[in-house]
Amino acid sequence: MIVTIEKDFAEVLKVTKEEDNLFIFGCAGCATLCQTGGEKQVKELGVKLESEGKEIIGYSVLDVPCDERIVRKEFRNNSSIRNADSIIIMACGAGIQSVQKFSPIPIHPVLDSLFLGTIERIGKFYNYCSICGNCVLEDTQNLCPITRCAKGLLNGPCGGMNEGKCEVNSELDCVWVLIYEAMEKKGNVNNLKLFREPRNWVQSFVFKSE
Ligand code: SF4
Ligand code: SF4
Repeated sequence: MIVTIEKDFAEVLKVTKEEDNLFIFGCAGCATLCQTGGEKQVKELGVKLESEGKEIIGYSVLDVPCDERIVRKEFRNNSSIRNADSIIIMACGAGIQSVQKFSPIPIHPVLDSLFLGTIERIGKFYNYCSICGNCVLEDTQNLCPITRCAKGLLNGPCGGMNEGKCEVNSELDCVWVLIYEAMEKKGNVNNLKLFREPRNWVQSFVFKSE
């Protein structure tokens, strides 16, 4: 899922200071799982804003705000949005830009998107994928070196690895050691010697930009 965190409430007040009537969008997908943009968080933010003198015209927790078809339908069918001065959106960057496409009024993102990761429990997430567009997990024991190696090395470990830890952050395991250990368990450590060609980052970027 896309892991998000909430911006400070002071920042929300700052970006809405010229506006009195607000509509809030939440996300029933990742932001609900992260407890940053589900119905509960949308209502809580509404109550806080009302205590600061704002009027909440309405709210809607979209199934998947990153699906433009859902957002388009919501704008077509939900007439109350038109009475708002602006929209607050509690979703990841993709959801925000999807809503931006259809909104006739200003929108204010109030979440920060961190990464694509897994959730162990609320507040404990792992950054496991950078959505690079050319997955190498088949060759790396399903451990991502693009994301989990501080240098994104395709052929590691680097010379800075120290007792299994990363030289950039000694609290983190060097992912190339984890990859080695996983290969060792399967009896195929020779795979570590396979040279992985440099990636075509331009191709990935262009694909993602479309
Ligand atoms: S290589 Fe890593 S960053 Fe790229 S798609 Fe696979 S898991 Fe994601
Ligand atoms: S120590 Fe390991 S994880 Fe850290 S930068 Fe070097 S290869 Fe990457």
